Amino acid sequence: MAMRREQSDRLFAEALRHIPGGVNSPVRAFRGVGGTPFFARRAHGCRVEDADGNEYIDYVCSWGPNILGHGAKPVVDAVIRAAAHGLSFGIPNPAEVDLAARIRRWVPSVEKVRACNSGTEATMSCVRLARGFTGRDLIVKFEGCYHGHVDSLLVAAGSGALTLGRPDSAGVPARLAELTVVLPFNDIGALRATFGERGREIAAVIIEPVPANAGLYLPEPGYLECLRELCTAHGAVLIFDEVMTGFRLARGGAQEIYGITPDLTAFGKVIGGGLPVGAFGGRADIMDHLAPLGPVYQAGTLSGNPLAMAAGLAQLDELEARDGFRALEATGAALEGALREAARGHEDRLCLKRIGSMFCMYFTPGPVRNLAEAKRSDTKAFAKFFHAMLDRGIYLAPSQFEAGFLSLAHGPPDVEATARAAAASLREAL
Ligand SMILES: *Cc1c(COP(=O)(O)O)cnc(C)c1O
Repeated sequence: MAMRREQSDRLFAEALRHIPGGVNSPVRAFRGVGGTPFFARRAHGCRVEDADGNEYIDYVCSWGPNILGHGAKPVVDAVIRAAAHGLSFGIPNPAEVDLAARIRRWVPSVEKVRACNSGTEATMSCVRLARGFTGRDLIVKFEGCYHGHVDSLLVAAGSGALTLGRPDSAGVPARLAELTVVLPFNDIGALRATFGERGREIAAVIIEPVPANAGLYLPEPGYLECLRELCTAHGAVLIFDEVMTGFRLARGGAQEIYGITPDLTAFGKVIGGGLPVGAFGGRADIMDHLAPLGPVYQAGTLSGNPLAMAAGLAQLDELEARDGFRALEATGAALEGALREAARGHEDRLCLKRIGSMFCMYFTPGPVRNLAEAKRSDTKAFAKFFHAMLDRGIYLAPSQFEAGFLSLAHGPPDVEATARAAAASLREAL
């Protein structure tokens, strides 16, 4: 039986009058699964309550940032404490130094780091910095990787762009897009060929080391190593976009897990504790090209905001104090096992991917190693599954091409409830 969502429907109708598509970020509009979105009234732990009072176990976690769960007390308390002393200074504040030092300690490739306000700003700044540092223009990216809504990177992009079937955005000049070369992920041959032909023109390669914006797939053994070697050999800057994976997969992110040292890294999501934050950092000789030391301009009125820094620091402290990454891996493994059990008998239609606290159930038998293979998914079956889960109180990302996220607030009873709902929903969807 479908849940009643009268208040959400009323709010969405009102929102449509004032906001394009009724939402402030496209994927929230449920276009990837049909129907209309629910409105969140409050959230606590792993649960979200909608405007009609329905509760859902949340596997979106604000698209990744809420790794402790919603409304985690240490984070909320830190924000309240900071707010009591002022909301923004536009003057250096001590918390900026603390967060920068913390990022450097956890991510050894980062020798210097600057804070900004979103993941998009972080990747945009990395690209500009790489171009300014190398004096070259060409950027290489990968199909299905999403790096925020940066002009140069909205070419064959993942996430909402992919969900809406428009991985290339209108409004990006063709002459700018020509400076972005797009390659399939996990294809060493394509990588070598591109560097062979245009290696001297390449300013930077930007990559999600674990692509999590076209569902979720993993780098094959040797792939990231090859990319690192090619960038070094040709003097191109290797940018890891760890906006999603940073401080989620490990203290040192995907680069720690795979043992690769990028030149620059973009961060966001988890380091903001739920407030709008991004950061980017890496080799000091590159970072020192930023103004005021160098010629590459980058700035932000609210960058290093004291509330955002306090939230991020509190979140990272808590992750450390609770041995968070080990606990997240345990919950992730439990969820994977429970979902595989729930999917028994449907193996010929599904491909489940997981690393740590991130997962995706593709509605294709797989293998899924790149965007082309991800796109073989039966998105109609996924949409049915999504709504069947929602009606059972389980909120998955409203698109086949998004990853699911766990938090430290998801416990064994939540995993069991999710697996029960999944078994029933798969019967309906397949
Ligand atoms: C979310 C995301 C971004 C963009 O971050 P925003 O804060 O939404 O601008 C960039 N890169 C990756 C890998 C992301 O997942």
